[in-house]
Amino acid sequence: MMYTVRYKSHHDASRALKDRYTQAIDKEVYLQEILTRPAASRRVVYLHVPFCNKVCSFCPFHRPDILKRREYHEYIVKEIQRLAPLTYMEAPVDAINFGGGTPTALQPDQMRVILHALRENFQIAPHAEISVESSATELTDEMLEVLLEGGVNRLSIGIQSFQDDRRKMLGRRGSGEFAARRVENAIRAGISNTGIDLLYNLPGQTEEELEKDLAMIRSLDLAGISFYSLMIHEKTPLASRLTEEQRRDMADLKKEYALFAKICEDLAEDGYEPLELTKLVHRRRDRYDYMRIRHTGGSCVAIGHGAGGNIEQYLYHNTAAVPILSEQIPISSRGRIVHPEYRILDQMIYDMQTTKVRLDDYSARLKKDLRVFLSGSIERMKKEGLLIEENGEIRMTMRGMFWGNNIIDEWIRQI
Ligand code: SF4
Repeated sequence: MMYTVRYKSHHDASRALKDRYTQAIDKEVYLQEILTRPAASRRVVYLHVPFCNKVCSFCPFHRPDILKRREYHEYIVKEIQRLAPLTYMEAPVDAINFGGGTPTALQPDQMRVILHALRENFQIAPHAEISVESSATELTDEMLEVLLEGGVNRLSIGIQSFQDDRRKMLGRRGSGEFAARRVENAIRAGISNTGIDLLYNLPGQTEEELEKDLAMIRSLDLAGISFYSLMIHEKTPLASRLTEEQRRDMADLKKEYALFAKICEDLAEDGYEPLELTKLVHRRRDRYDYMRIRHTGGSCVAIGHGAGGNIEQYLYHNTAAVPILSEQIPISSRGRIVHPEYRILDQMIYDMQTTKVRLDDYSARLKKDLRVFLSGSIERMKKEGLLIEENGEIRMTMRGMFWGNNIIDEWIRQI
């Protein structure tokens, strides 16, 4: 294999870009101008709920719970009300995504208040995707009712595994059977765009064991799955329990690839196809508009502690450490203005995340011939069986998808 370490995310490449393409423009002056004018791009809203009722054994995010949970929804509502009068927020919002943490760690009543505030204060496009991440445990009948009533039409449920012993090891509550029934309930209740998260390359996991999870996935009428190779973060409870043998097993790239390929191939037989490097969708039922709009020139208005977004060229991150929301978010959040080139390259990275890219389009937009920078890489990757090219479009093979983030990282460094 051409790489010895597999990158499981493209965040390093994106971070390098941010540093390279920052502009020395006063962010407050820029924002004042932008926010008092009609939006120049499509907008999505990201709403962050930074807590979970049960911390997973593999999760590296330390959550000291400094926030007053009972009041968090009120902070969010205030934030929505503060944003609402801005001219920038006048046009309809095309997608809303609740992430975390676990957004459904909010009480159903709190969730109801937030969903209501969104509708009261923002124009929401008629077919907007309204998406919520949840665990199976928090997806009670009462919560489902609130979500449906609030117009939620996409769910992403953090299952990770349907095997009871694995769920226990990962710190997920409830049996696999219980989790599957909760997924079914949500679909039956009317949220047909329901997908799950699956972890693979678990310590000692065999293909036979993975097959059981895939069989359960096939038995559910899912719109898609996100599948992630388990990352071990030191200082987590799971890391402290791993034996040397288990670590060696998980570091075996041939085995990891075999599991990856099994997921792609087995589910392809059932009509699943790649939407992103780590996302397979069933008969195109999930487009994940939130992500697509955000990375194809759109803006993302981020609400909540620790939420990150962008308002046109202003990239920002709401501070996570202060127990009350800022009085002036996004103006007082941490952020910077980036060059227009950053947004173009961000879109190119997104295209590569969707496993295909037309380099000539980006050469034209960037006014530099990317093939000059990448020709050696592209030829080598084609020989390695990672890429194929047809009619000017470069596509990742399944092996290319496995190494997709390495490819992105290598190209961004060379451009
Ligand atoms: S649900 Fe997600 S954020 Fe919460 S503890 Fe588990 S992995 Fe971490």
